[in-house]
Formats: sequence, C-alpha cells, structure tokens
Amino acid sequence: METTIKKPLTGLTLEQLRNVAAECGMPSFAAKQMSQWLYEKRVTSIDEMTNLSKSARQRLSTDYCIGVTPPKAAAESSDGTVKYLFDGKGGRDIEAVYIPDKDRATLCVSSQAGCRMGCKFCMTGRQGFHGNLTACDIINQIIAIPQSRSLTNVVFMGMGEPMDNLPAVLQAIEVLTSPWGLAWSPKRITVSTIGKINEMKTLLDTTKVHLAVSLHSPYPEQRASLMPVERAYHSRDVIALLRQYDFAHQRRLSFEYIMWRGVNDSLRDADALARLLKGLDCRVNLIRFHAIPDSDLSTSSTDTMTAFRDRLNEHGVTATIRASRGEDIAAACGMLAGKARKEQ
Ligand code: SF4
Repeated sequence: METTIKKPLTGLTLEQLRNVAAECGMPSFAAKQMSQWLYEKRVTSIDEMTNLSKSARQRLSTDYCIGVTPPKAAAESSDGTVKYLFDGKGGRDIEAVYIPDKDRATLCVSSQAGCRMGCKFCMTGRQGFHGNLTACDIINQIIAIPQSRSLTNVVFMGMGEPMDNLPAVLQAIEVLTSPWGLAWSPKRITVSTIGKINEMKTLLDTTKVHLAVSLHSPYPEQRASLMPVERAYHSRDVIALLRQYDFAHQRRLSFEYIMWRGVNDSLRDADALARLLKGLDCRVNLIRFHAIPDSDLSTSSTDTMTAFRDRLNEHGVTATIRASRGEDIAAACGMLAGKARKEQ
C-alpha cells in the first residue's frame, strides 16, 4: 500500500506558511492563524486549527501534518539534567539536553545527526556525519519536551556544527525570535561554532544571537591536531573577523576552552590565550574534559583549572569554569553520541 509522507508545518516561517496557505487555496491571513496554532497554542493536530474552515483543514491535512514528535527516550541525571533522544537522520538518533540551573532552564539542541568536523575529543565527531537536521527537527527539540514552556535559554551546542547547516539554523532562529513564532529575545539564544568563517559572518550579520567559538588551544598547530577544521578556517582569521563586531553591548561573545592535562593547561598557555584575545570583549568558558573511550586525552585537575582561570582574569580576560552537568548520563560536552544511556 502506498503511503504519502506528509510535510511538517512546524519549523516553517510566516512566509513559508503563506505559500502553504496559497497552495491550499486559503487567504494569506491564514498563515498568521496557522503560526499561532503552531507556535503559541501548540496544537497537535490540524483539526484543532478551528478558525480555519473545515474544507481548508481538510486540504491542509492532505499534504501536511503538524510535525511535532515527542522524544522516544529520556535519561535523567542525578543533577536534574535530562538527555532526550529523538528519531534522527540516517538511522542515527539526535539528542537534546535539558539543563536546569537555579532560575535558568537551558536546552542544548542538535543541528545535525553526527558531525563532519572530526574533532578528536568528541564522541559526535567520531560517529561521522549522518545528515542535516531541518528547521522542523530543531524546533521540535524545543517544542516537544515536557519543559518546553519553562525554557529560558537555547544553546546550539549539541550534535553537529551549526554553521555546517546554516539555512536550517537561521530558519529555526527566525521561528524562535519572530513575534509570529515563539517570540523569544535573541539574547536567550547562543550559537556555537568551530569558526566556519563565511557562515559565521552571515550569522553575525543577519541575527542578534550570542556567539560561542570553540577554540580549545591558542596555538594553530596544536589546535589543528585536535580540530582538523583549523587547517581550513584558521583561528587567527576567525578572531580577526570577530574584532570587526560589537560584543560590548547586546550581543555576547564567548570562547569555549576544554582543558586537557599537560596539553593546553599551563600558565604559559593561559598567557598565550590572553595575548590572542587581547582587546576583544569576550569571556572564556573553561570546560572540564569528559573522558571518552580510546582517547589519550585526560582532564586537567580542578587546581590547574583554577590557576588557569585566575591567570586569564589577571590578564583582564574574564574566564569562568563551567559547571559540569549530566556526565553520568553522557550528556556533557563532547559526549553526545545518539544513545539514551551511558556509553558502556
Ligand atoms: Fe562536531 Fe562540535 Fe564534535 Fe567538533 S566538537 S566534532 S564540531 S560536534
């Protein structure tokens, strides 16, 4: 029996909903009505869109569906972090991590199934690339979890390199921040990148979201050995570009720096990092490394991280040690691998 795959409405922009309305013979204002049902009221069936005529709903239902799919599994950490697993692309699942913290509730979303950047320290990178997520897949992670309405922040720091799937990420940001969408302030959104330079520039030019750059080493050679992407997009060029933007007011810039014992955690390394970032309005997030199988990298001690942070602060570079969350459910940075349970 032939089955038609219906196209999801969730994740569409107002403009795209206008096209859908036209396609289904509805007036243009029906697009706004659909966006309210999708993003404000969050209905689960087209039939619930009661201010559209019955015949319009029927026409719409022929080719379209709402497209919100609940997570198929969840694992809760002892610290309250919850890792959600969604059906993904290429047979690989995708993950989103809910991180409650005092008055904040952050969701870390994925932008790709797997990743093609191949960072040596990352489980997602190891599993290779299995496909780009659509804007619907991204918005679904935000809408389909039980804590959706109480989220305060979204960070694009899950599986994948957001700048390697820029059109879908930009579309998801448009849905998140538009008055007809979820109406969030861009200040609640942070996009992380390894520094794919042209796409990063487009993101900076077309949105107002915060930016986090995964740096991890102040030395190009060393960074290239950890992150092959350094050979294509030099961190020096990334930083030169960032110097052209204003990060002193609405938008914030941060650098992610995972700390590895004996690799990038000496005071000399802190001095080199401070020199590299000199004069930039930014903060450095120092991140504890979570061991992954078959890796010779190990985490720096708390004392070393504290000394490193203090040294950066002495240089006038704001640095903080990021609290580690969800390690027991393999939900921490670099540990996402499309599995609901801890790696065996
Ligand atoms: Fe991809 Fe980020 Fe992992 Fe690097 S750290 S492989 S960019 S998901």
